[in-house]
Amino acid sequence: MRVTVLGCWAPYPRPGGACSGYLVEDGNVTIYLEAGHGSFGKLCCHVDFRRLTAAVVSHFHADHWVDLLCLRHAVAGARRGGTRGSPLPLIVPGAPEEIYRRLAGYTDAFATRAVEELPVASRPGEPAVHVAEVDHLRLEFLPVPHPVPAYALAIAGRRRLVFSGDTAWSDELAQLAAGADLFLCEASGLAGDQRVLNDRHLTAGQAGDLARRAGVRRLVLTHFWPEYDLEDIRREAESGFGEPVILAREGLCLEV
Ligand SMILES: [Zn+2]
Repeated sequence: MRVTVLGCWAPYPRPGGACSGYLVEDGNVTIYLEAGHGSFGKLCCHVDFRRLTAAVVSHFHADHWVDLLCLRHAVAGARRGGTRGSPLPLIVPGAPEEIYRRLAGYTDAFATRAVEELPVASRPGEPAVHVAEVDHLRLEFLPVPHPVPAYALAIAGRRRLVFSGDTAWSDELAQLAAGADLFLCEASGLAGDQRVLNDRHLTAGQAGDLARRAGVRRLVLTHFWPEYDLEDIRREAESGFGEPVILAREGLCLEV
């Protein structure tokens, strides 16, 4: 499995950058994960959008979904032109309803499913998750604390990638991330910003601490406020994690 960072900024990008977006590839499967501002153009630097297997969005904040509107036109046009046959499977939260309905209405491009309608799996000692199969990959969606319905996501094939989405501290997220080969975690601020983050996001130190508790193999931080010195983010995260961390940047490609 391989993950390529398309965008790592929130809620607006640095010059030439993009907001949340990741390309996840495993064998013949290609998933566009998160579609923040500018991420679609970055996606097209790496893959032909006509070949996407699915698109997945964790929650409906603009810096995570608005480029689905680019994708819609691209896919609908490809279908009209005969270069893509079927609509693209799209998995998104079912709320806020007006955004869900708008996307689900683009039947020329998308075959949309709401996370909440996916089957639920719960094992003893593990949090309940919504589960989707995308080809040979198993996707597990865990509700996380954020001002709108939001999910963390595990993508499991031979390797296990866990993505935090946007979240405040969550013990259940640490359970979902347990033993992950790669944990892609938001780090929206520094310890001194706790009041501003207001229990909506993780600080870099919390991201590191959560990853340490989960015992993840590698920690990649993302979702950075553009005005920060990222070395401050790194320092706080590494003090929480106890090991070196990786900072996301556009074009960074990692084998999971
Ligand atoms: Zn958000």
